[in-house]
Amino acid sequence: MPYVQGLRCRECAREYPAEALHACEWCFGPLEVVYDYAAIASRTTRGSIAAGPNTLWRYADLLPAASDGAVSLGAGMTPLIRADRLAAELGLGELWIKNDALNPTGSFKDRVVSVALTRARELGFKVAACASTGNLANSVAAHAAHAGMESVVCVPADLEPAKIIGTAVYGGRVVAVEGTYDEVNRLCGELAAVHPDWAFVNVNLRTYYAEGSRTLAFEVAEQLGWQAPDHVVVPIGSGSQLTRIARGFAELHDVGLLPDAPHTRVSGAQAAGCAPVATAFAEGASAVRPVRPATIAKSIAIGDPADGGYALDVVRASGGAVGAVTDAEILQGIRLLARSEGIFTETAGGVTIATLARFAAEGVIRPDESVVAYVTGNGLKTIDAVAGACAPTVTVPPSLDAFEAAVGSIGEA
Ligand SMILES: *Cc1c(COP(=O)(O)O)cnc(C)c1O
Ligand SMILES: [Zn+2]
Repeated sequence: MPYVQGLRCRECAREYPAEALHACEWCFGPLEVVYDYAAIASRTTRGSIAAGPNTLWRYADLLPAASDGAVSLGAGMTPLIRADRLAAELGLGELWIKNDALNPTGSFKDRVVSVALTRARELGFKVAACASTGNLANSVAAHAAHAGMESVVCVPADLEPAKIIGTAVYGGRVVAVEGTYDEVNRLCGELAAVHPDWAFVNVNLRTYYAEGSRTLAFEVAEQLGWQAPDHVVVPIGSGSQLTRIARGFAELHDVGLLPDAPHTRVSGAQAAGCAPVATAFAEGASAVRPVRPATIAKSIAIGDPADGGYALDVVRASGGAVGAVTDAEILQGIRLLARSEGIFTETAGGVTIATLARFAAEGVIRPDESVVAYVTGNGLKTIDAVAGACAPTVTVPPSLDAFEAAVGSIGEA
């Protein structure tokens, strides 16, 4: 990590060495990685990036860990799909889906985990750990197995079965905690103090973890031919991903990879059953009030989001908005994306698409904007959400006549 200068407190700007630190000793503000942008600008080019691996590690110059020893299952460089059929349905113009459901364990969390565990290994950690709403659990367990690290993963006990099974299969320790994610997260904060030799990717390693989300901006810009989109729609759990996507576009300009300063409007998407940031946005409030989550979108059901206030600031400064959609709209969003574009997303992606649809209808997103919607997780993980609404069209005996009578006319004009 030749370009990392250290860590800096977001609130009071005190500086720290690049160790496993996440909060300022002075003011408890979050720490952020500081890079030498001038050095990156002088050496990193579009060509050097294109010559790198077909994973997020092609942006190693902008990451806080070395690609040589990367803990990688191949996360990143997921498809950016032009979504003309969905755009037509919503009355939009240039619309793209960043399909991060296609990461190794089926969600964008593979990005943050690959970066956090690579740094954790550099710092000498042998145990990977996390508090998770599900996708992070899958990803930490998988990457730890790949890296030969032990893992301890804490999840709310009422998680979707696919997310529990899809974590336990990797052979680490899975602890189902009888409580909400916010309670699991608080427990992990206490555990991190008792077990300083465990790398909690989203607690003591959070500074490095958060950096991985910037690759969602880097890749989109590269895939658009080195351009930033006019508007992005991003789901909000902790708010980390949204703030880092915004920063990622700005940094590409700082290091000379985008000639013009981007003016990307950043909009956030939440479920109405857990919408602390959307509520603060609607009320014009400056602080985010915690809520108790009740929604099918469990992967983003964080009632007390760590980066909620920063996400609010980013959205407001960029001219975006934050929407909150009902569980019924989430299910419609999942089916709309599947039906119009052939992409099956989990409930968090349903939140993004439903918010996109709402904002298109309200004119918050305009047809003259180029828009990227971030689809962050795979539908196969939350199959129960749509199970009731998706059944065989018809059941027939194995006979030609029965088939023809039931569905033979499909495709006739
Ligand atoms: C964790 C998660 C998010 C939210 O990311 P934050 O950085 O916590 O805001 C969005 N989508 C999916 C599928 C997730 O697993
Ligand atoms: Zn500070």
